[in-house]
Amino acid sequence: MVAAYNIKQQAHTSTNAYETALQQYDRAVKYLSIPDGIVEFMRYPRREFTVNFPVKRDDGRIEMFTGYRVHHSTVLGPSKGGIRYSLAVDMDEVRALAMWMSWKCALAGLPYGGAKGGVVVDPKTLSPRELESLTRRYAAELIPVISPHMDIPAPDMGTNPQTMAWIMDTYSMTVGYSVPAIVTGKPVNIGGSLGRNEATGRGVITAMVEALKRANRMDPANTRVIIQGFGNVGSNAAARAAELGFKVVGVSDVTGAIYNAKGLDVRTLRNYVAEHGDLRGYAEGDLMTNSDLLVQPCDVLIPAAMENQLTKDNAHLVQASLIVEGANGPTTTEADDIFTSRGIKVIPDILANAGGVIVSYFEWVQDLQAFFWDEDEIFRQLERAMMRCYENTERTAEEYDVDMRTAAQITAIKRVADALITRGIYP
Ligand code: GLU
Repeated sequence: MVAAYNIKQQAHTSTNAYETALQQYDRAVKYLSIPDGIVEFMRYPRREFTVNFPVKRDDGRIEMFTGYRVHHSTVLGPSKGGIRYSLAVDMDEVRALAMWMSWKCALAGLPYGGAKGGVVVDPKTLSPRELESLTRRYAAELIPVISPHMDIPAPDMGTNPQTMAWIMDTYSMTVGYSVPAIVTGKPVNIGGSLGRNEATGRGVITAMVEALKRANRMDPANTRVIIQGFGNVGSNAAARAAELGFKVVGVSDVTGAIYNAKGLDVRTLRNYVAEHGDLRGYAEGDLMTNSDLLVQPCDVLIPAAMENQLTKDNAHLVQASLIVEGANGPTTTEADDIFTSRGIKVIPDILANAGGVIVSYFEWVQDLQAFFWDEDEIFRQLERAMMRCYENTERTAEEYDVDMRTAAQITAIKRVADALITRGIYP
């Protein structure tokens, strides 16, 4: 009861991701005839876990860190979702991200509920050894709430395949045998899946292409794309967009943004970032801030950084006619309304970036069966799954005469609610 009380107390500011998640939920759920008690049930995370733990720094000091893991829903199967390392992590952010995972997995038709985790840390300030210690200790603290049949973590902002390898090893050493299916997004040599690294960015571009095709605007050479964020999602989306012949005119990372109306060379840019660690100093375009980049001339805007980037303060300045959400929760509800009134189509996060968790599911299935697929098979199945999500969302949007976000949420919430009703309330 205390947690439920806090949920309502804490979700109060307009830039609070959990408030955005709840507003989106309320908007969608009202189209469905679901008993009030079930509507209320799905607003709450099932479990919330907070851990405070020490890490020994390289200079011998002991420092305390705080981490979270939230299981929003476990109705359709074990909960699934990434682990984020960022100073912006707090309980409300993790709650929001866990809820979005429930809808994302349900929309994609995966046998999963939704979860998310995070540690309040800037991973760039830790040495590799400190990062390993922090990860192993956090993983050890999570052991009561994770397992291949209960809750399966994956990478998110600030974490990567190496982080997953340490979690997999810590879990495996604790139980006494190797359990590759405890996490997804692992390196391929320990049971990771081919194509997982590229999956989210690639899926984002599949969603973009589908939206352009349906609008009769599939003309890659004349389609200017801006991508905010150059992490796993943004850089792989940029690479895939360039591969398909789109003109990537702007990209950014935490250090700033770069815009070139003639188009950026994505391959050179990726090599530059691989060598220097970030975009700083890249000279082939105009330098600007992240917020300026969002309002530069383009046809497609792909926010692939974090929540609350498109708000009531900048939504009326956005020049794109299509927004494809690589990040989770980049658009506030107020910004959504502005985009709708301006005729700007938004392909929502739970659809556009579902490629990551779809290939995570393939990885988990391969691990459980100890039988691995080739990359062509992965990408073919990813494409099929993304198209299915897109088609279902469009159909729901037409049926209920709503925007794509509300349609995606209606589809997902209905699946979770139906399963909940079929299972019944225990005891
Ligand atoms: N962190 C990713 C997401 O937000 C992937 C989650 C997963 O693969 O479990 O969708």
